[in-house]
Amino acid sequence: MADTSFAAYNGRTVPKEDKIFGISGRAKAAIAAKGKENVINATIGALLDDEGKLIVLSSVDEAVKSLTPAEYAEYAPIAGTPAFKEAIVKAALGDYQPKGYVGVVASPGGTGSLRNAIANYSCPGDKFLTHDWHWTTYKNIAMEMGRDEETFDMFDAEGNFNLEDFEYKVNKLLRIQDRLVIIINTPANNPTGYSLSGEDWDGVVRVLNSTDPAKKVALVADVAYIDFAGDEKEVRSFLPKLEELNSNILPMLAYSASKTFTFYGCRCAATICLAKTEEVRDEFVRVLSFSARASWSNCPRGPQEVIAKIYNNPELLARVDEERAGFRNMLLSRGHAFEEEAAKVGLKMVPFRGGFFCSVPCEDPDAVSKKLEEADVFVVPFTKGVRVSIASISEAKCRKLPKLILEALEA
Ligand code: PLP
Repeated sequence: MADTSFAAYNGRTVPKEDKIFGISGRAKAAIAAKGKENVINATIGALLDDEGKLIVLSSVDEAVKSLTPAEYAEYAPIAGTPAFKEAIVKAALGDYQPKGYVGVVASPGGTGSLRNAIANYSCPGDKFLTHDWHWTTYKNIAMEMGRDEETFDMFDAEGNFNLEDFEYKVNKLLRIQDRLVIIINTPANNPTGYSLSGEDWDGVVRVLNSTDPAKKVALVADVAYIDFAGDEKEVRSFLPKLEELNSNILPMLAYSASKTFTFYGCRCAATICLAKTEEVRDEFVRVLSFSARASWSNCPRGPQEVIAKIYNNPELLARVDEERAGFRNMLLSRGHAFEEEAAKVGLKMVPFRGGFFCSVPCEDPDAVSKKLEEADVFVVPFTKGVRVSIASISEAKCRKLPKLILEALEA
């Protein structure tokens, strides 16, 4: 059949409409028609207050407003300003002092970090590996560059992290590929809110350390939600385990300022590697910088200056941390309210630990989400269940929702 589209077909599947935008458009229309108190819009991936307004840390806002024209208008170096690189590593690693060589390259959001990791540590035609419950953009990023996706089951029948399937898929892919990019989104996974435990991480390290040393593996921890996942030290306790990995495995973090600094639209993040040698670290900086130059060039300078200002001012940093901790507690209370009510009505959930989202597994997520829309409840269907954004609804709505979802499941 003749190819009638003007745009080139180059291996991608481009949907006619973005599913999430479609649903959230209908949610907005319902709110306009019926009032926000009568609609539950649990689709939005940003932190909103109980009235549905975007939360922006006032301490960060203050720092943004203190920028001079030169601070935001000038080009930033491709890999980021020196002060930003230093600050973002502190933000990502917290108290942890790595033994290895730390490389850092700025990116426009965590999305850019993931794009750069796949671009540089896999070949066209390769598959990257991630868990089945995952942010759907991963696959689009890969397809855009002629790569594809393979998934492992994130949970076994008992609801534990499925190390067995992880091992099976790692070995399967490494039989046919010389390189493998693995993305693990933890802590506070999108869409489930699950965080790998220390034991889960030990298993991941064990599996990867038994791979053929001639094969190269890039292990990307997508930590987009780390600062809304729980106690700041505890959620970073997996970092030393990354340095137990053999030298054929390169651990990296996709660390985004989008959630941490309520900076979603500022497009600010970094890819950080913990390399065993200087050569691997320098190569990381070189190849990621090359990719950056060839795609978005440099990242916005203003947000980098803001993060540097925060880390150069202990009083301001303390205020940012304190303010964020308050909102994190609010978010965790919302999540626990949802969990509590789910347990009361007998609604099965995917294990939740923290973050912006929780999920309910079901057979036909599209049908369940459609049924919920009839009751003015808007959630996002994923492959194996529906995702609820607890970040965007009040605790009272979190308490109401489990019963409504159960009714939709049973309809
Ligand atoms: N990773 C996950 C799992 C996400 O959900 C998101 C954003 O929603 C990102 C990474 C990257 O976000 P951004 O590019 O806005 O930093």
